[in-house]
Amino acid sequence: MTYGEQEEFARRWAEAIVGTSYVPIGRRVLTKHLLGLTRRLVEAALAVEFVPALGRQIGVDMVAAHFTGTETLRETLALIAEELPGLLGSAPPGVDAAGRVAQLVASMAAGYAGALRERSLDEQDAIYRAGLRARRQAEQALAASEAKFRAMFTEAAIGIGIADLDGNITDANPELQRMFGYTLEEFTQLNVVRSMIHPDDAPSVWETYGELVRGERDHFRMEKRYYRSDGSEIWTQLTVSLVRDEAGAPAYQVALLQDISERHRLQEKLEYQAYHDPLTALANRQMVTERLGKIFAAPAGQRRVGLCFLDLDGFKVVNDSLGHDVGDQLLKTVASRLTRCCGEEHLVGRMGGDEFVIVVEDTGGKADVAALADEVLAAVVEPVRVGDHELSVTTSIGVVEQAVAETNPEDLLQAADITMYQAKHNGKARCVMYDRNRNDSEVRRFTLSATMLAAVERGEFFVEYQPLAALADRALLGVEALVRWRHPRFGVLGPERFVGLAAESGSIVQLGHWVLARACQQARVWRDAFGDAAPFVSVNLAPRQLHEPTLVTDIGKILDDNQLHPSSLHLELTEQALIGDETGPLTVLTKLHRLGVRIALDDFGTGYWNLPDLRRLPLHELKLAGSFAVGLQSPCPVVDQRIVAALVDLAHALELTVTAEGIETPAQLEHFREVGCDVGQGSLFAPPSAAEQIDALFRAASPLCGIRREDISREDISREAL
Ligand code: C2E
Ligand code: MG
Ligand code: MG
Repeated sequence: MTYGEQEEFARRWAEAIVGTSYVPIGRRVLTKHLLGLTRRLVEAALAVEFVPALGRQIGVDMVAAHFTGTETLRETLALIAEELPGLLGSAPPGVDAAGRVAQLVASMAAGYAGALRERSLDEQDAIYRAGLRARRQAEQALAASEAKFRAMFTEAAIGIGIADLDGNITDANPELQRMFGYTLEEFTQLNVVRSMIHPDDAPSVWETYGELVRGERDHFRMEKRYYRSDGSEIWTQLTVSLVRDEAGAPAYQVALLQDISERHRLQEKLEYQAYHDPLTALANRQMVTERLGKIFAAPAGQRRVGLCFLDLDGFKVVNDSLGHDVGDQLLKTVASRLTRCCGEEHLVGRMGGDEFVIVVEDTGGKADVAALADEVLAAVVEPVRVGDHELSVTTSIGVVEQAVAETNPEDLLQAADITMYQAKHNGKARCVMYDRNRNDSEVRRFTLSATMLAAVERGEFFVEYQPLAALADRALLGVEALVRWRHPRFGVLGPERFVGLAAESGSIVQLGHWVLARACQQARVWRDAFGDAAPFVSVNLAPRQLHEPTLVTDIGKILDDNQLHPSSLHLELTEQALIGDETGPLTVLTKLHRLGVRIALDDFGTGYWNLPDLRRLPLHELKLAGSFAVGLQSPCPVVDQRIVAALVDLAHALELTVTAEGIETPAQLEHFREVGCDVGQGSLFAPPSAAEQIDALFRAASPLCGIRREDISREDISREAL
């Protein structure tokens, strides 16, 4: 067989088996490989002595070269059997080529089959061994995670318990044992549902638990209280999770418990502090308010409610003279006496300072609450021993008793408070029963008084200006600043409604300061617009303001701030401001005088001064009260005119300018002019008006035509009596 024939055979062989086994080589490499085998085949076939091992080895090599597909062997053997005998050519003597090829095919097949079997055994073995290895690894991993979980369970700083679905505890970690004071042994005797109930558990706790063990939820979290083995209480943050089996059915439950008792104690303490007065341990204002809220939140029906509002009489004196420690002891004693009178039945609260309240729920009528108030009055009056002092203290009590349907918490408290003031007013050491009619006007006065400062802040006040005109030619010289309150509920209120209240409460100081600043700002505006011809502003000062130590510096600063010459400002004081303290106001007046502001004595004729006394005062003007104008109104005002004339002469002798107030008619104007009055103020010229109208008036008016009333329109002031 020539080399070319061998090559051709190898090529045909390759063609026959290509694609029958998965061998990742190209056809050329395959042909080359098969050429080698072909050569060995020819050698084995033509050998003098047939050696079956050669044929077997070729079969083995085919398997080793991965020619292991089922078709490969069949195609190979068919090709060799059919074509090789014809190609062998001259065989050695005594050798039957066809017979040799048949032997060769048989031995090749045997070698091939044997090698194939060996190989699959090897493969199976490898798979088996890999399986073994994998199982061993999985077992090791499981053991490791089990150990990790165990460590976690035992070392955890949080209590962990495991129970079956009936609630029988099956395991508890050391922390849980420590938290509850049970051993593991004892724990496993307990049942979650039977032994872990706390009487104060909300029903929802056990409803949620039921949902979990029935598999309707996978976990829940809540704060829950338990008893420890020694009977003490423990608060926990509890998280319970349901563990399911592979089929998803509930299997057991795991509970994580964190001890939060400390946090709870702190929370309870804070809550207590939020609702109690630290000194007396009574309920504080917050708690009283909330209790009243609850009473009024429930359906009113026929229920009635009572409230006693107490204020100790003269407590400030005790505090100021004997010190706060004694004051505190006294308050504590009073608190315990009130608690003694009321027992558990009624809520006693301290509203602040020396004010206490008693809330009486579901009263039978006024008599019930009045009786309680009398009892309290008697209890408080008993002498109190504090250290070396034996104190006797009394209290004033405002008592309100009403149907719940008729009132609300705020009104109830306010009515009791105001009624208490009534008790003070009536002589202290007594209780007064609330009277609705009296209360309404008191409430209004009280409301105004109590809200005034906030109203100044909110800008509810405004100033009107009333012209002061020269009587000779009606020229506009200045304006008087008159304050008004645009009240959100009561409309525009004139000063007679609130100046008195402001003086009583002391807010006149802030209000007066605001008016001064406002009026001076306006004076600046006029100064900028009209120069030297601008009107001066005349501002009323309440007696109380004269006692303010900062008055003079305050006024100086306001003038500076607005860059005003002091003579642009006049201050009106009433005789009342100058009575009483002989030296105080006088010194202030002197200082103001030195500052350069002009000072007018307002409403002269309504007080007790006599003119010669005026010499002592650093005054510039005298304003005759409106009552003189009324006197001059009569058809034959001879007497009054003579009095006024004398006053004017005297005032002029003291170098005072005289202004007549309340000029409403031309006749009055004429009379005042005749007696030599200098300046006039009144509706005949113009009523108090907004600054812009004064502006317009100033522009329209010339000294020749004077002030014309028609130029003015104004806001109506509510004159309703209080
Ligand atoms: P007053 O200082 O004597 O002010 C004059 C009062 O007479 C003003 O009353 C004014 O509206 C009123 N009036 C003006 N023209 C006529 C008239 O032709 N006929 C009549 N019958 N009355 C006239 P108003 O504004 O009600 O002020 C009353 C009092 O309130 C003032 O009397 C003054 O004492 C006080 N007042 C006003 N504003 C202030 C203020 O800012 N501070 C202080 N402390 N008191 C003020
Ligand atoms: Mg005045
Ligand atoms: Mg006046």
